[in-house]
Amino acid sequence: MTERQKVLYIGGFGRSGSTLVERILGQLPGFCSSGEVVFLWQRGLIDGQLCGCGTPVPECDFWSRVGKTAFGGWDQIDPHEMLALQKRVDRNRYIPSMVAPKLRPAAQADLDRYTDVLSKLYRGIGEVAGARVVIDASKHASTAFLLRRVPGIDLRVVHLVRDSRGVAYSWTKEVKKPEVRGDDAFMPQYSPTSSGFQWVAYNLMFDALGALTAFSGDTPEPPGTMLLRYEALMANPREGLERILAHAGEPVTPESFSFLGDGWVDLSVDHTVAGNPMRFHQGRLDLRLDQAWTTKLPERDRKVVTAITWPLQVRYGYSKKDSK
Ligand SMILES: [Zn+2]
Repeated sequence: MTERQKVLYIGGFGRSGSTLVERILGQLPGFCSSGEVVFLWQRGLIDGQLCGCGTPVPECDFWSRVGKTAFGGWDQIDPHEMLALQKRVDRNRYIPSMVAPKLRPAAQADLDRYTDVLSKLYRGIGEVAGARVVIDASKHASTAFLLRRVPGIDLRVVHLVRDSRGVAYSWTKEVKKPEVRGDDAFMPQYSPTSSGFQWVAYNLMFDALGALTAFSGDTPEPPGTMLLRYEALMANPREGLERILAHAGEPVTPESFSFLGDGWVDLSVDHTVAGNPMRFHQGRLDLRLDQAWTTKLPERDRKVVTAITWPLQVRYGYSKKDSK
């Protein structure tokens, strides 16, 4: 087998800025954004939603070549079967059995089959893109635990966190999904209480993954997970990117940050599956931290979210003040 394909996985709770972070990382030499790969079967291949390049995924040249390289063509693999398989193995409630497969022996065949498919898929993406590092912004915790079991990939996890109050405010807003053709479709909305509890649950799962990779010693050079605060990356993108490059075991070269200016990034076309609508943006983009929640999230909601999330917020380095 040739060298393992590096996969940089961005994990965390939704509305933490993962799409923007992924796209910034995708501009690094040797890196390739692939969007939220977890949605490839359903939204990409079955529903035919738009790739980040603006073409429906099944017709996008990049993804067609990935299908050919990985499987001999998408017609050689049934996305409905893959979706059913994914539902049988990639769930948060199966995380314990991903850590200890003996807990769920009946699932072993499914797990072997699906991890084999994912191995071919990520290696296909890397080969077609000519990328040393494939970025997957799927965010889901279960997928991160699953990827540890995928042969032929070298997993590096970035645990992305954003101030829970900013996240909660974002979930109260109505956001349209431009990639869905036909009927208008909007992203789901959550109450501040619901998003507060989910913020805690999702982040704790990534804390558990971090502890596991740090102590299990089951990889030759366990890099663990890297905690990245969205606000810190926005405040100092270069420093954040250097940390991520180190975590990915990739060098900083004179060309590394050619896309990065003073407070802006220059984004190319990225062939991404699913994600926030900004994945369609091409060209220069100003990097501004959206702090609308500090004025727009009602006081009562802010207190609720703070009460639910406070201990973890402190652990991740957030202060009681509204800023970083
Ligand atoms: Zn595309």
